[in-house]
Amino acid sequence: MKKSFYLNMLKLLLIILIIMVPIKRPAFNDDILRIHFIDVGQGDSTLITIGENSLLIDSGESKASEKLSTYLKKEGIKKIDHVVATHPHEDHMGGMELIIDNFKIKNFWAPKVTVNTRYFNRMIESLKRKKLRINVAKEGKIINLHPKVKCEILSPINEKYDNLNNYSPAIYLNYGNRSFLFMGDNEASVEQDIIERNSIRCDVLKLGHHGSSTSSSEIFLDSILPQLAIASCGKNNSFGHPSKAIIKRLQTRNIKLYRTDIHGDIILECDGNTITILR
Ligand SMILES: [Zn+2]
Repeated sequence: MKKSFYLNMLKLLLIILIIMVPIKRPAFNDDILRIHFIDVGQGDSTLITIGENSLLIDSGESKASEKLSTYLKKEGIKKIDHVVATHPHEDHMGGMELIIDNFKIKNFWAPKVTVNTRYFNRMIESLKRKKLRINVAKEGKIINLHPKVKCEILSPINEKYDNLNNYSPAIYLNYGNRSFLFMGDNEASVEQDIIERNSIRCDVLKLGHHGSSTSSSEIFLDSILPQLAIASCGKNNSFGHPSKAIIKRLQTRNIKLYRTDIHGDIILECDGNTITILR
């Protein structure tokens, strides 16, 4: 009786211990590429890390900047090696001022285009305060994220575009046997230019323009052949992103869609071979 009592107590203690031991993800595992499609509402913000190296593509709207800042700190980010502001629309760089002010940024990238808006001017003021110059993001530039990762900017290709969305640097990232393509808000015309100039495939496609029907053309999808697509968009957004036509286009091709409006923050891990969706 006494013996079984102690045995049960021991079992209970063991269970409590197992529950209490936090499941720790190694903060800086050198061989794991992590991609966070952060839920910033209607906007874009993607954090890519490998080892202690990091790349942040866009910052979402200004109203999401506190959330983004907290998210980055929770991930143990103090410095960001590369920040890309894809184009001067508020849903991509509205929160940039706070990110530039709150984090040590080593390299800042943006396409060569300026606008006279409150958020753009604030971003420029923050860059000046931090004495950060802008690296011009354009076709052919390489982002040195990590020796094992190839990260190349495929667009903008032209000097001028009618639509600001098309200045977005499309970023192609290759790690081991896997590749990822981040499209910004590029539309179908830029997609066409990209596939005409590059022979690329990708496993994961961050859909252009939040899954709008202006992007993700059939010819583009059939050329790069993604298995997984991500739409970064806000809940019940007034633009109807992602578009029903695009959802159908992906379904027809068996491309699995993940959306920040439904799934929240989406985190992918890749060891160079396997891509795991954490949530
Ligand atoms: Zn956008």
